[in-house]
Amino acid sequence: MKIVVVGSIAYDAVETPAGKRESQLGGSACFFSTSASYFTEVGIIGVVGNDFAPSDRSMLERHGIDTTGLVEVDGKTFRWTGEYMDDINTAVTLDTQLNVFGDFEPTLTESHANAPYLFLANIDPNIQLKVLDAMISRPKWVASDTMNLWINIARPTLIDLISKVDMLIINEDEAKQLTGQNNLPNAAKAVMNLGPKSTVVKRGEYGASLFGKTFSFAAPAYPLERVIDPTGAGDSFAGGFMGYLASVENIDEESLRTATIYGSTMASFAVEDFGLQRIKNLTKSDISERFQAFTELTRFKPPASISNGA
Ligand code: AMP
Repeated sequence: MKIVVVGSIAYDAVETPAGKRESQLGGSACFFSTSASYFTEVGIIGVVGNDFAPSDRSMLERHGIDTTGLVEVDGKTFRWTGEYMDDINTAVTLDTQLNVFGDFEPTLTESHANAPYLFLANIDPNIQLKVLDAMISRPKWVASDTMNLWINIARPTLIDLISKVDMLIINEDEAKQLTGQNNLPNAAKAVMNLGPKSTVVKRGEYGASLFGKTFSFAAPAYPLERVIDPTGAGDSFAGGFMGYLASVENIDEESLRTATIYGSTMASFAVEDFGLQRIKNLTKSDISERFQAFTELTRFKPPASISNGA
């Protein structure tokens, strides 16, 4: 197993200007793993209740996702209710029911605990820390995400966790809230001062910015005329990003830049339909065609005076 992800597995109730869904499969770990499954082998750590549909587990397994770490216990699956009515880039949480996540104790098999890549998707930072501590050897690359709820109610644990990861992948508003910095490069710098070597700041329809200690890179969002449901765009971004990195085995400035484009590619698919509908039905050629479209979108030719260094 190349990547292990821990995060939420949810039934989401979502309303967007394009419509409403009462209960669709979601959760940070489901979007991440489905997206990453197009690039490499992924294992999921999480918990669901006995209302979890066998067809949802089979969907994950059809993507080659290892679900031995997806445990079912008595109770109800995590449930999130949100809307994107005033601003399509910002989810407004109307309700969060932790349900079985309330007292989840993650258990890792040897295969999980030896994985070289770990993604700590958005979930209680106490659970993220437990999974990181349970790894047998320090993975080659650990990335994490979080959200405003955890910044508000679990800041000290979150800061402790962030100090131990290689990369934080976070929304712009949350990066600013976490660091108290209102300017994007300053917020990214403040994130790296907490420990990570690099950070990706996700900016919804404005794309994503990658910051390292000595470089930065910006990817646009794919220009879509209609966004149906932004839920899961961030986790799908992270799945494409980490999936690509794990598939090339080489982490340097170049691969991080390319991973940012793969992340943006997967995020652009995620928002084209409700929930996982679009990203669960992709082909490898859909992905390479859209990657190619990104290359075209960002192509420009420096004038001779610049390329000659004159
Ligand atoms: P995003 O990629 O940020 O749009 O993530 C969307 C997913 O996050 C939804 O499918 C929700 O189920 C999940 N989610 C919402 N709130 C939380 C939370 N507090 N902890 C973990 N997952 C959450």
